[in-house]
Amino acid sequence: MSDLKNTVELTIPMDAEFHWSVGSYMERFFAGLGERKLMGIRCPGCGRVFVPPRMICERCFAETEEWVEVGPGAVAVSFTAASVEVDPKTGGLRDLEEPAILALIKPDKADSAFVHRVLEAEPGDMREGMALEPVWAPQPAGDLSGLLGFRPAGAGG
Ligand SMILES: [Zn+2]
Repeated sequence: MSDLKNTVELTIPMDAEFHWSVGSYMERFFAGLGERKLMGIRCPGCGRVFVPPRMICERCFAETEEWVEVGPGAVAVSFTAASVEVDPKTGGLRDLEEPAILALIKPDKADSAFVHRVLEAEPGDMREGMALEPVWAPQPAGDLSGLLGFRPAGAGG
């Protein structure tokens, strides 16, 4: 066992701004979010649908090009609850006012999953395989902010 009495706590300020192109595939995915659509892409080799899209299937090495709309229903493959978050200004951890639920979410008709927030739910409500639906921004922009997260299916309007 390590000796925790001799640990040193470091605070490392981070500048978390990014200045890089997400590429045409991600631009199309983001544009779909602006229309309240989850867009995936199908591999011509194995037929799997990837969300978010990827240009090359890692199983077949085939180039993907057939866009398909997936969801809007989805399932929680797994989940966790976070009680702290990284403060982008200081790089340290700060407490959240209430726990945030993060889930690995697989949209219906997709063969891959991604991590997003689960809203309008308590950690104790969560079950593996539970049905979710997207929560869209009131006027979704064509970027990540358009999709606020997911919530238990049928939880609200
Ligand atoms: Zn494939």
